[in-house]
Amino acid sequence: MQDIRKISFSDLVKFLENHNEPAFRAKQIYEWIWKKHVFSFDQMSNISKKLREHLQKHFYFNVTHVSQNLTSQDGTVKFIFRLYDGKKVEGVLIPTQKRITACISSQVGCSLDCSFCATGRMKLLRNLESSEIIDQVVHIQQKSLELYQRPITNIVFMGMGEPLLNYSNVIRAYVHLTDPKEMGLSTRRLTISTAGIAKGIKRLADDNIKAKLALSLHAPTDEKRIKIMSIHAQNNLKVLHEALQYYYSRMKQYVTYEYLLLKDFNDTLEDAKALVKWCRKIPCKVNLIEYNNTGTFTGSNPEQIKIFEQYLLQHDIPTSIRKSRGQDINAACGQLIIQDKSIILKE
Ligand code: SAH
Repeated sequence: MQDIRKISFSDLVKFLENHNEPAFRAKQIYEWIWKKHVFSFDQMSNISKKLREHLQKHFYFNVTHVSQNLTSQDGTVKFIFRLYDGKKVEGVLIPTQKRITACISSQVGCSLDCSFCATGRMKLLRNLESSEIIDQVVHIQQKSLELYQRPITNIVFMGMGEPLLNYSNVIRAYVHLTDPKEMGLSTRRLTISTAGIAKGIKRLADDNIKAKLALSLHAPTDEKRIKIMSIHAQNNLKVLHEALQYYYSRMKQYVTYEYLLLKDFNDTLEDAKALVKWCRKIPCKVNLIEYNNTGTFTGSNPEQIKIFEQYLLQHDIPTSIRKSRGQDINAACGQLIIQDKSIILKE
């Protein structure tokens, strides 16, 4: 028995040939799986009963369920998904006037331990399958249509986990989500956010992945960044610079730097100056992020955030302040952590 959603299209064609079925059946089955997102063979109404029974004998579906959802005062909805093996991850639906964003997870827990992020306290339990990544989008989409009568417009890999450390499954999901014959989302409406895995950044360029790239920079110097992100030891600014240059030379796409403003740590004019210097290296945009409380730091005050933003703008760096959403239900960036006995915390 095999997970049907791990089978490539060509393997499905081969399987059908072996069962004396015409190749066009593969297209129909693929459509049921990746466009209509059914979770059982019984629902494939244009497939003969005999073939459905054959399929059932050889394949199964690993189904992702919504275990719980919580709605914030600002309309943000947090989902807790239960995976086929009982493990849990979170995803978030973020509605604004212009767009509806699905924030999704790439791993169960995280192997990194960025000191400002709640997910970093969980151990990495496993990578998500590409089908589990897509299931999150499908559930969030359903909710969006139900609550707001609008489909998702954007997807961001900013939930739990480090997407570039689950590269193959993330890219497989990206391909399904953007395939015009399936979900058909435009490639630039997907954002892959990384804590800074230089090798992964280069690989995105080698594979010509057109999704937007966001780098969680958070500090403009090696001395400061290493204090809050241990991943920085292998991916320091020099290494990241080289990877970003490689990325830009091939993709010609700007990069977004996410910059969390922490009081008296990285929010002074001196920091802003260092950030401007870094930003001159390749075309980019900066998203200033308000710190969502995870118990470890104090966020910069709104006046300081404004001053920081103004400095960047005066130096011609496209900058915006990202408002925090869903804080009251712990759905905001960095606040995702499963709060039950299924999780294992780092020592
Ligand atoms: N591992 C990836 C994606 C997940 S985190 C990455 O690091 O980019 C998504 C974003 O939320 C990142 O920019 C992360 O740095 C940010 N984040 C983490 N903790 C936060 C907090 N407490 N407040 C605000 N943003 C936070």
